[in-house]
Amino acid sequence: MRAGCLLIDLDNTLFDHRHSLRRGLAALRAEYPELFGGMKPRQLEEAHERALAAVYRRGMRAGAPAADLASARTQLFLELLEIEAKGAAPVELAGRYERAYLSERRASAGAERLLRGARQSGLPIAIVSDGRREVQREKAAAIGVLPLVDHLVTSEDAGAAKPDRRIFELAAGNCGVPLELAVMIGDDLERDVRGALACGAGAIHFDPAESGRGAVEAPAVVDLAAALPLLGLTP
Ligand SMILES: [Mg+2]
Repeated sequence: MRAGCLLIDLDNTLFDHRHSLRRGLAALRAEYPELFGGMKPRQLEEAHERALAAVYRRGMRAGAPAADLASARTQLFLELLEIEAKGAAPVELAGRYERAYLSERRASAGAERLLRGARQSGLPIAIVSDGRREVQREKAAAIGVLPLVDHLVTSEDAGAAKPDRRIFELAAGNCGVPLELAVMIGDDLERDVRGALACGAGAIHFDPAESGRGAVEAPAVVDLAAALPLLGLTP
């Protein structure tokens, strides 16, 4: 059956966060070999993702300024790696990471083809993303996907984060389509896939690492353009 509208996640789905993360961490390894030189990239990535998730959850609740969150994230990142930042303040490390991260932003594989294909078929499209509206809008513009979607709905707009029904409802409503006819594409099993399925919408798991974790619940794609036939559209 053809979908009535496409709802799609931003971070780690349309936006290739992992690519930027790797660039940010590579900059830290290159500039602070005394701190990070002996560590494997994988180890740094894992610690950074854990720190990011923890600080993000706290920050979203408290509404803290972005610069404070970046500094807190770097502090926690160093603690997880048991690194003592001799002489290099977390705020300085956060700044270096941030510059490399921001300079390398790009859309995920197949993102543009998916959005253009859906558009050409007249399918309304809304980005559904947890986070602050201005931050997510700027990001979507930077990676070139903002002009290809009809709506951007954030947890700030909905007053609730995924998997809460309210954010999906607002997005489908903006598209003028009942939520039951919407299909949500996202990388997060709990928030995107199960969240959408629990509301009666369809779901596609974006799984570029081919983890296969969501296979029982929803079809999975490793390249976003592969979702076109699953939406009932021709690729
Ligand atoms: Mg995501």
